[in-house]
Amino acid sequence: MSEKQYFLGYPPAIQQQVSQLITQGKLKHYLLNKYPSPHQIISDKALFHYTNELKQRYLKNTPVINKALYKKQKDLVKNALGTHTFSSKNHGGKLKSSHEIAIAMQLKNAPEPLLKVLVVHELAHFKEKDHNKAFYNLCEHMLPEYHQLELDLRLFIYQCEFFEGLYEK
Ligand SMILES: [Zn+2]
Repeated sequence: MSEKQYFLGYPPAIQQQVSQLITQGKLKHYLLNKYPSPHQIISDKALFHYTNELKQRYLKNTPVINKALYKKQKDLVKNALGTHTFSSKNHGGKLKSSHEIAIAMQLKNAPEPLLKVLVVHELAHFKEKDHNKAFYNLCEHMLPEYHQLELDLRLFIYQCEFFEGLYEK
């Protein structure tokens, strides 16, 4: 698996920088230098509060979140770092809906800004299903450095998947 596939959406100049970081063995150093410590949002309960707080601040008029949790995601490389599911069931004539956000397990031991990118991404899907311009505008509204942080998130996941966890001693 080459980093080329993993960073496919980025301009060639960025892909080249990424490739250099990786081949020169500097990826972990780059990340640790920028993000010296992990967040403390370890439990699903804490993640739920964190997610809800962001939602209340930026997306008040969207359906409530019922659940947020860390979950083992199948294919990180294909960008499924997080998922959001919305289902509604008919309970004796009453429509009951459930809104759930799942975040890849790797983010449990991650810097806070990178957890935030993913939470913001999944929250933005409450309003925009597709990865279109409106979607990214909304992401940037919630988190102005969204694009840079998304690249760092990919670098972080790459580090975890192909080398070792960032904060492992
Ligand atoms: Zn998405």
